[in-house]
Amino acid sequence: MDKLINDLQANLEELKIAGNYRSLAHAVQEGRYLLKQGECMLNLSSNDYLGLAADHALYAEFLHNAPPEHLIPSSSSSRLLTGNHPVFDELEVALARLYGTQSALVFNSGYDANTGILPAFAQRGDLILADKLVHASLIDGMRLSQAHWFRFKHNNLTHLTRLLQSNAANYRRIIIVTESIFSMDGDEAPLRDIVQLKRQYPHVLLYVDEAHAFGVRGPKGLGCAEEAGVLPDIDLLVGTLGKAAASAGAFVACNQTLRNHLVNHMRPFIFTTALPPLVAAWSLYIVRHLPEMQGRRQRLAEITRHVHDALNRQGIQTASRSHIIPLPVGDSTQALQLAEEMQRHGFYLLPVRPPTVPEGTARLRLSLRADLVDEEVEKLIKYLSSKK
Ligand SMILES: *Cc1c(COP(=O)(O)O)cnc(C)c1O
Repeated sequence: MDKLINDLQANLEELKIAGNYRSLAHAVQEGRYLLKQGECMLNLSSNDYLGLAADHALYAEFLHNAPPEHLIPSSSSSRLLTGNHPVFDELEVALARLYGTQSALVFNSGYDANTGILPAFAQRGDLILADKLVHASLIDGMRLSQAHWFRFKHNNLTHLTRLLQSNAANYRRIIIVTESIFSMDGDEAPLRDIVQLKRQYPHVLLYVDEAHAFGVRGPKGLGCAEEAGVLPDIDLLVGTLGKAAASAGAFVACNQTLRNHLVNHMRPFIFTTALPPLVAAWSLYIVRHLPEMQGRRQRLAEITRHVHDALNRQGIQTASRSHIIPLPVGDSTQALQLAEEMQRHGFYLLPVRPPTVPEGTARLRLSLRADLVDEEVEKLIKYLSSKK
């Protein structure tokens, strides 16, 4: 035991020296601000892109109008046992209706969705082709599956085309996996092109993780696939409910048979206690109101355009066009220092370091939010311009 503790401690010291040590901050979210050790900072590290989690009036309205049978704090068991409260069905019907799919299925988290769906569908004799930069949960899903898997160069359609051409005949089924807006780079997959490509192969399924686009993009807030007009071509569309939707959990919108297959085979769906009905009811409330939240989406789009344009005018190139803007640093220790400096100036940004991103590509991740006021946006632009 002593030897184990010593080895682990030595490993943690190495992480500290490399600037990659992680620890839990004691911080309280207060609207769009974050309170930490007596400091009040603008929270630019949250995924509350529409400011819905910060909007306490919205939650109060939900509580006021919710039927008492929805306000239940525990499901007490898996949905396959006694935990399938009717509100889950209502939420799934609402999601399927919005997406125009036959069905939807709700999970406890995006992590559960991505680690469960791929192993449920991809068997021996199948191939998964995933973008090089997909989220850790998707990588874990591939690792847990019995299929062969390979990662294509980031957003590189030529590479994906070549891989499909050379492998199509050798596999029973191929699943292409991508995010729509990439979580750490903020750039976007060429969904229309991927769809064109996929249409040429009847045995190819397309799996799109819209974690950072659900709520934010598209006329009804359904994500980038809605915006690009390709919803019918996405076989498995995953959205998470804990980011812009200000709740918790995740869902897949898909064909009824695919859903039934998941209910029968997906381990993180079967072997876990369902979310509290209260949480599903709050998700349902948000999902029902999402289409009419175009004002918030437009405000976020406006802020996003303005920040990109202003930084570009200052000679600062931004690698994305979305509300997630990576500020490249490279070295982890320097990224930590820059984050601390920004925090001293009232901007709560966090460094993103390996292993979340590749070695040598540490960065600060700026996430914009719809509830920023103009003055705050200008202050941020001024500060970033002074650092170039
Ligand atoms: C956050 C995230 C997830 C995980 O979702 P949770 O609900 O937080 O578990 C999955 N995929 C991507 C791309 C994400 O950014």
